[in-house]
Amino acid sequence: MEIEKDLEKLIEEIGGEDFQKKVQVCYQCGTCVGGCPVAWVNENFNPRKIMLALSRGEIDEIINNDLLWFCCYCHTCLERCPQKIPVSEIIVKLKNIAAKVRGIPEGYVNELKMIAKTGRISSISSATERRREQLNLPKLVQTSVEKDIKRILKQTGTNLFLEKEIKK
Ligand code: SF4
Ligand code: SF4
Repeated sequence: MEIEKDLEKLIEEIGGEDFQKKVQVCYQCGTCVGGCPVAWVNENFNPRKIMLALSRGEIDEIINNDLLWFCCYCHTCLERCPQKIPVSEIIVKLKNIAAKVRGIPEGYVNELKMIAKTGRISSISSATERRREQLNLPKLVQTSVEKDIKRILKQTGTNLFLEKEIKK
């Protein structure tokens, strides 16, 4: 199947040679899921299971599961894994593969559009301002980041992705 050939190529391109080898030393201790803040609030998200599926070569199943996108890239799993498996880095690579094969969830596209426009992932609401005041935090000021953001988007190739998304 064409998609399988593409997937193989993507795994090689994005994952690199040792992508799957790194998880072969996982002994399923569950330390990664025990410290995962996402797993605390969503019992269906489980980095241990993702590593297990990866070690079995079940990449299709992983990238077709939207739960993958719940990882917030906090690196707790990477820091705590007794086998020094870079779990969070591997999950990012899996997300990159999923993005190429399936695209990225709409919520992320909207966040990207907002970053391109304002430099923030969401607008500053009055509720945010009130909460900051209660916490004695300084007021947020909207600074002009247009030039810097444009440069970052260009250097990461995100501008091309956004242009395509906007045309949809
Ligand atoms: S902490 Fe490391 S060894 Fe333990 S289950 Fe997670 S990835 Fe595997
Ligand atoms: S990086 Fe992702 S998988 Fe790892 S602990 Fe943080 S949220 Fe969980």
